[in-house]
Amino acid sequence: MQQVAATLGIIGDPVAHSLSPAMHNAALRAFGLPHSYERWPTPRAQLQQRVEQLRQPGMRGANVTLPHKVAVLEYLDAVDPAAAALGAVNTLVHSATGTLTGYNTDAPALRDSLAACGWHGGHAVVLGAGGAARAAMVALRQLQAAQISVVNRTIERAQVLVEQPNEAAVSADDHTLPTLISTASLVINATALGWHASDPAPLAGHLLHANLIVYDMVYRPTPLLEQARRCGAQAIDGLDMLVRQAALAFALWFPGYAALHVMRSAAEQALGRNP
Ligand code: NAP
Repeated sequence: MQQVAATLGIIGDPVAHSLSPAMHNAALRAFGLPHSYERWPTPRAQLQQRVEQLRQPGMRGANVTLPHKVAVLEYLDAVDPAAAALGAVNTLVHSATGTLTGYNTDAPALRDSLAACGWHGGHAVVLGAGGAARAAMVALRQLQAAQISVVNRTIERAQVLVEQPNEAAVSADDHTLPTLISTASLVINATALGWHASDPAPLAGHLLHANLIVYDMVYRPTPLLEQARRCGAQAIDGLDMLVRQAALAFALWFPGYAALHVMRSAAEQALGRNP
């Protein structure tokens, strides 16, 4: 059956450097789908209008990125229960019946990524307490982490994330941090630190050790990953998570299409990495 061309895009502010158009357009081309995926830079004041445009015929949906993952919730008809529990969405689906539903593919993407890199549970330390850290908490609970420590500059934000007896909030300057890290098998950087060459590492390098997986959600070389490699830890950047969240979003719009491999190649090419 001939497919009618549909439009998708990424809503955020800014979106100029997003890898999503490269990944999604590569997958659309690879599967011979006649749709297109665009950049939709959207200041907060235009968010409602942008979301309403998704209700037009020919609109299949959108991704949502910073800073709108929470604010967009109020403009939707429905929210997937897992995304509602997390309090943030990154994927919108415009159904054939006209409803707009929000999903979150960040948490399952991180869960799958951690499983793929061989993390088998134990004590996980999450650095940061924003939306990405929330996704990390969900992923770690699903992977049945024995213990989770949320370390954040603003302790009050970390405390909000703690829900279970095996979880604790820790201030980034707490004196127990060395002991915490020494017992950890996983450190996840979910702070905003690492995108800029001048950013400090979110954790002092001398605290890392060879028995750690250090997972940085940033997908560029970071001081944290460099320090992890130097001490013999397994160092993983955020590209795998990014690619997995995109492939999961694609499958929500186009069920049955497995886009992971083509998206990974497209993202690596866009970043100038040799696959
Ligand atoms: P967010 O909600 O704005 O949270 C930012 C976090 O970074 C907060 O915990 C904040 O601490 C901390 N932070 C910011 N500046 C800091 C500084 N100078 N020193 C110490 N801590 C600082 O952002 P988000 O949505 O959670 O995103 C966090 C990171 O994850 C970003 O780099 C984002 O690009 C990345 N991410 C990657 C993927 C992927 O697919 N790879 C997906 C989602 C997010 P305070 O609470 O004290 O302000």
